[in-house]
Amino acid sequence: MDSEKLIRQLELNGFSVTHDTENPKGEIAVINTCGFIGDAKEESINMILEMAQRKVKGNLKKLIVMGCLSERYLHELEGELPEVDRFYGKFDWERVITDLGKTYYKEFCNSRRITTPSHYAYLKISEGCNRTCSYCAIPIITGAHKSRPIEDILAEVDELVQQGVKEFQVIAQELTYYGLDIYKERKIAELVERIAQTPGVEWIRLHYAYPTQFPMDLLNVMAKYDNVCKYLDIALQHCSDNVLANMHRNITKEQTYTLLEKIRKEVPGIHIRTTLMVGYPGETDEDFAELLDFVKWAKFERMGAFAYSEEDGTYAAEHYKDDVPQDVKQARLSKLMRVQQNISQVLQDSNVGKQFKIIIDRLEGDYYIGRTEFDSPEVDPEVLVRKTEGKSLQIGEFYNVIIDSAEEFDLYAHVV
Ligand code: SF4
Repeated sequence: MDSEKLIRQLELNGFSVTHDTENPKGEIAVINTCGFIGDAKEESINMILEMAQRKVKGNLKKLIVMGCLSERYLHELEGELPEVDRFYGKFDWERVITDLGKTYYKEFCNSRRITTPSHYAYLKISEGCNRTCSYCAIPIITGAHKSRPIEDILAEVDELVQQGVKEFQVIAQELTYYGLDIYKERKIAELVERIAQTPGVEWIRLHYAYPTQFPMDLLNVMAKYDNVCKYLDIALQHCSDNVLANMHRNITKEQTYTLLEKIRKEVPGIHIRTTLMVGYPGETDEDFAELLDFVKWAKFERMGAFAYSEEDGTYAAEHYKDDVPQDVKQARLSKLMRVQQNISQVLQDSNVGKQFKIIIDRLEGDYYIGRTEFDSPEVDPEVLVRKTEGKSLQIGEFYNVIIDSAEEFDLYAHVV
């Protein structure tokens, strides 16, 4: 979304902007970097190096780098990457534009040229995070939680609906904290309800809830409105009391189990996506066994997992010894993912013969690729519908399909 705001400003100034990392074109490259975790940092650095090569070969006139990584490691990067003309911080759109000798249009500061397929868009409702999870660098990079006012968000929703957006991927570092800073009370339920009531909004999907002090009124709104997807992305990280305490998550194992039971009871049919971490400092074999039992019990519809790696400046990096050997971390990760794969396969197979409403994202080879309300773009399973003579489907339209077969990740279907 930050890139989308910059693209809009560049276009208002007459630039022709492409957003294509595979086949980059143009005279000026702007790389918006991410510095949250190791993989994202590596991806950002690789992209800078690739563009630096293009510049050295004379295929690029100017190379600009902005975003979290360049804000966090400015001095190191400046020393290492002389091919870069200028580094900027995360929110420096205005300086980028004015340094290019152009005008920054303040009246369009919230306008975006969306780079996702035109029927869905990400909607950031806040920046930053007030939590103190001991492994996490996000609060160091983004600062304290800053909610956007409800009216501001609704105006953006209206504008995006006018542009043809039907599905909103609501995101925040800590979704469930929304409102506490500016309204002195949690307002996520009210916000989601107001978005759900906006004409033209067909699907709303919620990302990155936090389990502690979960606002239960949100569950009522999720159950009440058909256009709020029965989907919740809630990163739980672990379930053993020992690890949760070390992580400073302010929640216990028992409270985690209770919360999941409550969510499933209040929002029937909900699909829960979570992220878990193995190999945290101090994680014992017993802690890991508890995590495995938890995953078997919870039967998450969607789950991601990763092995702990130290992040500069975090409490964990400064106070804990990274004491779980790398091979143990990897073995635990593989074991956890094997357990989850079995759960996913059973769930996938149980979909065969069932009817779903899907939205078509794209056409790829012989297949239209769509998603159900239980699937977020890029991370979740997709539904493939074979292209047939005389029956073309429209990208961005909804169709009812019946599932014919299931693979480990994707489903195959035909239109009803
Ligand atoms: S809630 Fe999320 S973003 Fe905030 S500190 Fe914890 S892990 Fe980081």
